[in-house]
Amino acid sequence: MRKNIVVANWKMNLVRSDALLLVHEVLSNKADNISVNVVFAPSYPYIYKVAKLCEINDNFSVSSQDCSSRKQGAHTGEVSAEMIASCGAEYVILGHSERRIKFNESNEQIKHKIDNALENNLKVIFCCGESLQQRDSELHFDWVEEQIKESIFHLSKDQVKCVTIAYEPIWAIGTGKTASAVQAQDMHHFIRNLFEKKYDNDVSDNLSILYGGSCNPNNASQLFSQKDIDGGLIGGASLHSDKFLAIINSF
Ligand code: PEP
Repeated sequence: MRKNIVVANWKMNLVRSDALLLVHEVLSNKADNISVNVVFAPSYPYIYKVAKLCEINDNFSVSSQDCSSRKQGAHTGEVSAEMIASCGAEYVILGHSERRIKFNESNEQIKHKIDNALENNLKVIFCCGESLQQRDSELHFDWVEEQIKESIFHLSKDQVKCVTIAYEPIWAIGTGKTASAVQAQDMHHFIRNLFEKKYDNDVSDNLSILYGGSCNPNNASQLFSQKDIDGGLIGGASLHSDKFLAIINSF
């Protein structure tokens, strides 16, 4: 059975005290019986502390927002997958569109990051998604297929079981414009089929595919009730405990 997952991508927001307060509010208000895995993705300096706070509940864990494509050494400012794992993170978000666009990350570079993450026993949340121009030109399926093929499809069946996909149409991220439930479901179904064709039913049935892009308490339940949508990668709404809790409770 695939997991329902909700990820809080805080991006470069929240000072330490606000971050820890937010974690505390979510941890103390989330009902234990809800079968959803909650993942906080803080900035690097807070990973260790947030991971410690999450130890009290098996449904909570921590992700980094990125990792280096290098393993170690003279790369000032870089943070390796090994370091992130040693601070207690379980996941790493890779291929977010903000990194692809603002930091020129290519599919090839993301592939190396994925390999480093998996070598260090981190699970990968792999982001993919098209621009508005690509959707308007009906190139969105081809684009997402290329992103997945070039960064993921070299993995073995065992390795790919440690990957979660986040479909995030770029035009919906931070814009207040959400993909309709039908648009999102169509893409999630397409992605699941790609994994079935490349691997098998066992992989595709167990693959969690999250939606990201202006997901909020008003649209989460409609999105999460779609057959192939297994949760969300949440940006803006994850910075407020009430909104984030409402999204967690939308399954
Ligand atoms: C994101 O950053 O991955 C995201 C989905 O942001 P938002 O929810 O703010 O659109």
